[in-house]
Amino acid sequence: MILEVRAVPPFMKNGYIVGCPRTLEAVVIDPGDEVDEIVEAVSARKLSVRHILLTHAHLDHITGVAAAKAAFAVPVYLHRDDLFLYERVVQQGAMFGLPVRPQPPVDHFYDGSSITFGDFEVKVHHTPGHCPGEVCLQIGPKGAAGEHLFVGDSLFAGSIGRTDLPGGDYDVLMRSITGVIFALGNNAIVHPGHGPDTTVGRERASNPFVVEYLAGK
Ligand SMILES: [Zn+2]
Ligand SMILES: [Zn+2]
Repeated sequence: MILEVRAVPPFMKNGYIVGCPRTLEAVVIDPGDEVDEIVEAVSARKLSVRHILLTHAHLDHITGVAAAKAAFAVPVYLHRDDLFLYERVVQQGAMFGLPVRPQPPVDHFYDGSSITFGDFEVKVHHTPGHCPGEVCLQIGPKGAAGEHLFVGDSLFAGSIGRTDLPGGDYDVLMRSITGVIFALGNNAIVHPGHGPDTTVGRERASNPFVVEYLAGK
């Protein structure tokens, strides 16, 4: 599997490219302020992007959607429950004092079916709590379990997503992490929206927020 990640200030949000080495078809996940670097990496790798997939619609994860759509001319996917955030991208920017342009309409809402590119498949798991429409994108070869999890801001190496923004809910988030993401197996590699990769097994054993939650259940 081809995997590229880029992040730029101020948010240092990870934008991902995942590609099929045989067909060179790819998906772009959460294009934000690093979208120019993403477009450059796609071109350097001679990839053909088929889908733009969003884990959720917070500002830092969507500011590059318009540029990505202009570059690749492919559909944009989001969970319906985050549409209210997506439509308020300009206001989200104003909260940070950042001028942000409106983004193009969402083309598809995730509907439970898999999304494919080349020999690979994306399974979409609804993981609300950090915001109402967050998803975990599970990627692997078609027909396999999929060991790469793109979790947005629900789970980080040693931390969890904040739940004090509109639509956030701590108990819902902890159920998403321990009930949905953890069910995908200890060996699964977690690619968070910010910071380094980790694994389900490592977070289950040592993430202080998770350990405290599981101890209190
Ligand atoms: Zn977020
Ligand atoms: Zn973020």
